[in-house]
Amino acid sequence: MARTTLKRNHEQRIVSGHLWVYLGNVAEVEGEPSPGDIVDVCAANGEWLGRGYYNPHSQIVIRLLSRSDEPIDDAFFAERIRRAREWRARFMPGATSYRLVYSEGDRLPGLIVDKYEDVLVVQFLTLGMDVRREQIVRVLAELERPRAIYERSDVPSRKYEGLEPRTGLLWGELPPQPMVIRENGLAFEVDVATGQKTGYFLDQKENRQALAPLVDGARVLDVFCHNGPFSIHALHYGARAVLGVDSSAQALETARRNAARNGFADAVRFVEANAFDFLRELERSGERFDVVILDPPAFAKSKAHFAAARRGYKEINLRGIKLLRPGGFLVTCSCSHHMPADAFYDLVLEAASDARRPLRLVEWRGQAKDHPVLAGVPETSYLKCLICEAL
Ligand code: SAH
Repeated sequence: MARTTLKRNHEQRIVSGHLWVYLGNVAEVEGEPSPGDIVDVCAANGEWLGRGYYNPHSQIVIRLLSRSDEPIDDAFFAERIRRAREWRARFMPGATSYRLVYSEGDRLPGLIVDKYEDVLVVQFLTLGMDVRREQIVRVLAELERPRAIYERSDVPSRKYEGLEPRTGLLWGELPPQPMVIRENGLAFEVDVATGQKTGYFLDQKENRQALAPLVDGARVLDVFCHNGPFSIHALHYGARAVLGVDSSAQALETARRNAARNGFADAVRFVEANAFDFLRELERSGERFDVVILDPPAFAKSKAHFAAARRGYKEINLRGIKLLRPGGFLVTCSCSHHMPADAFYDLVLEAASDARRPLRLVEWRGQAKDHPVLAGVPETSYLKCLICEAL
């Protein structure tokens, strides 16, 4: 097996739990590993640190798979996936749709597997996983016995690995799309072939449940509502009326069908608009809400976009807070890893201060437990959800 030795004092991040070795960390590569091959990783003093897959064409040349002296074979992947499944069974008992494998969070860097009832949707995000696609599909098919395994590797980040986007059926037979999944006892339509990402935003499952104590009898505004899951949860927990807004006509059509499917067609209105303009119009027309939910797409796709992203987040939060009646609740999210939690908190407080509406905190929340955060890999933590009362 090939072996890489890190530069002196470059092992600390790996020792502290990170799984990525950057090109700049490497002093020497012995043997002639091909792209995707497994290589051993050693510190400058020779200490063996672990093994992972190699991609000389990526800035991240190695992603660690194991810190034990074990072969990276079918049994290895089966064991990791079994552990991932046990985690979901422990923390989400009874759930039938969830993220089964969350990349680094499940110590399988570059692999995402979303389970939508009996269909698995996979993303191979890195070359090291892409070259193992047959192995992974085989192991998943055997462990999960799904009806289908469908690939949605249409993510821009694959280009950093030298890979093209790829989608399509990998195993079994895909049921007619859209299909229906269950979440928190409600039904949602998902189209795994054409929906955004892998079809549905599973990471908000627990934050949607957190609406329960806020919405009884409430008038709710759901901004960036996508297929409507926050709206429909709010109605399920007793909201009187919901207004949802999103810029995607396709997402809103699904949202309307989702509302009808759960028996709430009459209590919700979904509007296609740019959220920034729409919030301004609502404010001008004097509308007020008991609960405002803000769940925008990642405004900060990289560190370079931080300043612009901060302005965007601050603006929607300012407008959202102004739309709350006194004592109303703000549920505000950010799914950008590049917007750190403390910076997000600061900008929400700034927005509240500009609006002259002091906040009282209900809770700080994150991503659902099927998106586990691996300590030492800050990139695995991205979703923030702050719930507060606007006094
Ligand atoms: N709240 C949703 C997920 C939102 S994802 C859920 O719980 O599933 C972000 C959404 O923002 C996407 O549906 C996207 O179509 C929408 N979006 C992106 N830019 C927008 C804009 N400027 N105005 C309104 N919606 C926008």
